[in-house]
Amino acid sequence: MKILISDPIDDKVVKELKNYGKLLSKGEEAKADVIIVRSPTKVDKDYIDKAKNLKLIVRAGSGLDNIMDIDYCTKKGIKVVNTPEASSIAVAELVFAHMLAIARNMVYCNNTIKKCEWRKKELIGFELYGKTLGIIGLGRIGNAVAERAEAFGMNILAYDPFVRSSEYKLVELSQLLRKSDIITLHVPLNESTKSMIDKNEFRLMKNGVVIINTSRGGIINDDELLRNLKNRRLSFAGLDVFREEPPENLPLRKLDNVILTPHIGAQTVETKRRIGKLIVEKLKLYSRSLNERQDYVVQKLGK
Ligand code: NAD
Repeated sequence: MKILISDPIDDKVVKELKNYGKLLSKGEEAKADVIIVRSPTKVDKDYIDKAKNLKLIVRAGSGLDNIMDIDYCTKKGIKVVNTPEASSIAVAELVFAHMLAIARNMVYCNNTIKKCEWRKKELIGFELYGKTLGIIGLGRIGNAVAERAEAFGMNILAYDPFVRSSEYKLVELSQLLRKSDIITLHVPLNESTKSMIDKNEFRLMKNGVVIINTSRGGIINDDELLRNLKNRRLSFAGLDVFREEPPENLPLRKLDNVILTPHIGAQTVETKRRIGKLIVEKLKLYSRSLNERQDYVVQKLGK
């Protein structure tokens, strides 16, 4: 098996991968049976046409945004796998980093005390305890957030039209928007979720609601987000993801009621380690299935 590692991955993983085949260098796409990519490599139609022997694409990470044409891969018989299970805890913890930083004015505290200002009197925050958390998208990350929110004594509401039953209270989107003090988004970006939080949805929300988005830019309508932050209908937003990354022109930068992080949801030592293990596991499974298929062909021919 010829494996092309197209974007940098952990050295230990590279070493392990050598047990499964010959490693190729960038530019040798045409010879590769398997390619391993992170975000930088864009796998489009042209790329796939060049990689004539390609059978498996391993995307080390969660989204498949940089695998531009999954249908074309399927048509060509190329399997695409990713490692979404690796980052759920890290993203869920980032949601709490945002929520707690907002609740206790952490950015303002830090900035003012470093300027030798003691603003204690004006720094009245709020507790997460007893607040209603609305979780949109109750998959891996949504559930990891809910589990942790329970420990904080929050009331949990969730909206996910594809989940039939859950230990958490499932409600319609409109009810979640009306009742939540904090709303957190955990849906994939697709045609049904693009701008799913728009003018009408903002209109339904409580005054002073907080929104956290660690899912994907584009799920919230940016203009509406900006407008509702400016007029303080929305008291605060914590954002890890942006329509364009890195964002070139981001008017949100100027607002003091936004905390921004540069898509660091999965940026933990533990997630990287898990991704490494999963890449090796997925390759092992694939190589086993190849061997089984070969055994089957040999048996058939033998008969
Ligand atoms: P998941 O597939 O386990 O869960 C997604 C959930 O969204 C599913 O339960 C699905 O039913 C639900 N859903 C789909 N369409 C919906 C809709 N229209 N309304 C409500 N719910 C809907 O995925 P996950 O692992 O929980 O990840 C969620 C998203 O988080 C990913 O798609 C990715 O975009 C994002 N993510 C971000 C980072 C980061 O670094 N910030 C890291 C990992 C994942």
